[in-house]
Amino acid sequence: MITKFIKRILRRDPMIKHTQANHSGAPKHIPKKSHRIDPHLLSKNAVKVTHTLQQAGYEAFIVGGAVRDLALGIGPKDFDVATNATPDQVQKLFRKARLIGRRFQIVHVTFFGKGHPEIIEVSTFRALLDNAGDHVAESGRILRDNVWGSQGEDAARRDFTINAMYYDPSSETVLDYHGGMADMQKKTLRMIGEPAKRYREDPIRMLRAIRFAAKTGFTLDANTRAPIAELGDLLQDVPSARLFDEILKLLMSGYSWVAIQGLRDAGLHHGLLPLLDHILDSGEDSKGANDFVKLALANTDQRIQSGKSVSAGFLFATLLWPDLLKNWKANLAKGMANTPALHDAMDDTIATQSSGMTIQRRFESDMREIWSMQPRFEKRVGRYPYRLIESPRFRAGYDFMLLRCATGEQNPALGEWWTDFIAADPAGQEALMASAKADSGSSATSPTKRRRRRKPKSDAPPETLAS
Ligand code: ATP
Ligand code: MG
Repeated sequence: MITKFIKRILRRDPMIKHTQANHSGAPKHIPKKSHRIDPHLLSKNAVKVTHTLQQAGYEAFIVGGAVRDLALGIGPKDFDVATNATPDQVQKLFRKARLIGRRFQIVHVTFFGKGHPEIIEVSTFRALLDNAGDHVAESGRILRDNVWGSQGEDAARRDFTINAMYYDPSSETVLDYHGGMADMQKKTLRMIGEPAKRYREDPIRMLRAIRFAAKTGFTLDANTRAPIAELGDLLQDVPSARLFDEILKLLMSGYSWVAIQGLRDAGLHHGLLPLLDHILDSGEDSKGANDFVKLALANTDQRIQSGKSVSAGFLFATLLWPDLLKNWKANLAKGMANTPALHDAMDDTIATQSSGMTIQRRFESDMREIWSMQPRFEKRVGRYPYRLIESPRFRAGYDFMLLRCATGEQNPALGEWWTDFIAADPAGQEALMASAKADSGSSATSPTKRRRRRKPKSDAPPETLAS
């Protein structure tokens, strides 16, 4: 009882700077019958967090992308909570709560249940900064924003109207400060405030606009779209790690192909990833490369939409493959042996990427493994197939090889052989190897193969590009 009382007093703690200025006036209260959010789509843990905070006398809401997805009838992949409690106050209420971030602290509340642990991200309402002082770079980009604020201010600093709604699971009411629900009905993606200014504050918002338009199928409001054509270059100033994260989100959104088209239509792809320039600018002459990338992206989208996982290393390996193939062939033409030619091509391909936004090292080793496995699929005799199967990344390499078969860059018969080999018992595997031996040299497993007389030795090197 006493602690409750203290908490109530704390609620009026001046630590939370409630500037009275409400940048957007009072919110619209939208009742259940209008927003039609299905409570079954809610995370029980997110509800637990809002409930606990409310019991302690604070305001607490589910916020941002989760409310947007709920209103679209989609189960959100993660839940954020916004509150007027400070991070310290939040932390005291939960057993597994960790303070994250230095300048602007948020709290991660973790729940362990069946399956993966769930993290609910709890942030304190933040204020909108004005355009003065050392918080803003010359370009208008915000460098620091770490001042607590009112809920109205918190809403005004968000990006799109549909991302600025607050849902209270207890009353099942949505608080809508910027007409997000009306925009949902109109299927419009609209920036809060003056779009050009908001893009200058944070150029990443241009990429977010394209990603959300692709994901929701909504149309970008004309005023929201217009400044992008002129401001695209501002993305060059964004720290490359942040840019990379955003591009990764775009590629892993489940709508990557549509989003990439969106980037091109908005003129945003240049200089982001050299590979995007390549994919989007190339004409008929690189149709094969485009087909491969398109298929890889469609495959990724399909996996993500059906709830399967996708590794970023795999995805980048596919996007860079056409470039790698070109370099590999060029090395072979110079007379290099197959394996060194491939490894040299991998170095070149990765180095070219670093002229734009670098692909982080953690994905680089995955990519290298997947690529260097490719010629090994052509060795189908002796111990080779067994050794390959035992590689830790075999599955990724195999999936990658199947993609190559699907575009005809690799002989589909090779894909079928491996699919059978994986499923076969030891006797079946021996039989498959015998048939591969008999076949060896008689049919090109690689369309890029330079045809040559069949090698007489049974344990011949693989029918790779170099054969
Ligand atoms: P998803 O998680 O599905 O990609 P999201 O909308 O939840 O979409 P997050 O990056 O998780 O996106 O951000 C959560 C919320 O924080 C957003 O809905 C938005 O309200 C706000 N937000 C995120 N990034 C920005 C930004 N760059 N500028 C302004 N507001 C932002
Ligand atoms: Mg989110």
